[in-house]
Amino acid sequence: MTERRMSRRVMVGPVAIGGGAPVVVQSMTNTDTADAAATAQQVAELWRAGSELVRITVNTPEAAAQVAPIRARLDAMGCDVPLVGDFHFNGHKLLAQFPDCARALAKYRINPGNVGRGAKRDEQFAAMIEAALRHGKSVRIGVNWGSLDQELLARLMDDNARSSTPLDSGAVMHEAVIRSALESARFAEELGLAPERIVLSCKMSQVQDLIAVYRDLARRCAYALHLGLTEAGMGSKGIVASSAAMAVLLQEGIGDTIRVSLTPEPGGERTREVTVAQELLQTMGIRSFAPMVAACPGCGRTTSTYFQELAARIQSYLRAQMPQWRERYPGVEEMRVAVMGCVVNGPGESKHADIGISLPGTNEVPVAPVYVDGAKTVTLKGGRIAEEFQAIVEDYVRRNFAPGAKRARARTMPIKAA
Ligand code: SF4
Repeated sequence: MTERRMSRRVMVGPVAIGGGAPVVVQSMTNTDTADAAATAQQVAELWRAGSELVRITVNTPEAAAQVAPIRARLDAMGCDVPLVGDFHFNGHKLLAQFPDCARALAKYRINPGNVGRGAKRDEQFAAMIEAALRHGKSVRIGVNWGSLDQELLARLMDDNARSSTPLDSGAVMHEAVIRSALESARFAEELGLAPERIVLSCKMSQVQDLIAVYRDLARRCAYALHLGLTEAGMGSKGIVASSAAMAVLLQEGIGDTIRVSLTPEPGGERTREVTVAQELLQTMGIRSFAPMVAACPGCGRTTSTYFQELAARIQSYLRAQMPQWRERYPGVEEMRVAVMGCVVNGPGESKHADIGISLPGTNEVPVAPVYVDGAKTVTLKGGRIAEEFQAIVEDYVRRNFAPGAKRARARTMPIKAA
């Protein structure tokens, strides 16, 4: 993995973005911000799932009026996650008319393509930066190619048409996205905002566009960068596209904070985007959040779905424990568990994990050997294998991760520091 790109560190409340800080996971609500109860509840759910910043839309006076009450509700719940306000079109007015909202937010997201047209553009952008200065807040200058500053794009297209070596229209679009971010950031600095208060993003909806734009952006500035594929889509397509794009950039050391913009399935959980972001970082060895379960895909040697159910049960059990375990058992997030379907790869994979279980495949003796720190310790059988294995995991966590406990063996593949 390439060394992390060294960006300026930006503080958003107590959360550090960039400057060598661990890559921050963030998310966004999809509730009506004017509904303070529903929004506070969803923010808290995202926070409990592991979101370290939560963005809420601030689009109307009714929404702006509820931002401070949302903050108060969260504080009353013991949820201290910083809130980011997402502003488009009327942010300059809302921040001026609702100073409690401006104060309650930890960061303002400004889309330079949606702050106004002509002479009003600079004036309204300046009003938002002045609000950030007045209240001591950070901003994200968040360009989105779906709402790109059309005047800037037209200017670059005209310049390109006059050039003796014109670029293709895709390259001009990339340049327009980057210029919009960099020129807006420069203007914000001219207005007095320190570069340590500015995060940039240039969201694209196609994987190759995102990679090309961020590589160039990272080379041309030292601002902290928020990474995300916009309009990634639903289900596996959204997960794959986001992971494909962000993995390439993260591998090159680019990206200080990430969001996976998933369209939830009907009735699906909003927190999925947080889990996917965490799993992306953890599977890449960038940062650990919760113990991970290695499980084989199953094949013709497995005749039942028992091992799939056990793998799912253990994975959700481990995630559910994390809010308490994080405090009580430091380092437990790096524990590795294996749940395997038969003797072919079961014992080998189980030995590589901290704890592993190899379930019986077709025609095997109906027993499940358990491996702890690479050695076989017990063989489970009967109808309570899942409960007994879970108890072994709990015992392992207590013995190895309680403060002062010594790990029985060092990890064979250390997680790289973020
Ligand atoms: S470990 Fe066994 S059950 Fe799992 S995929 Fe390999 S051969 Fe199939």
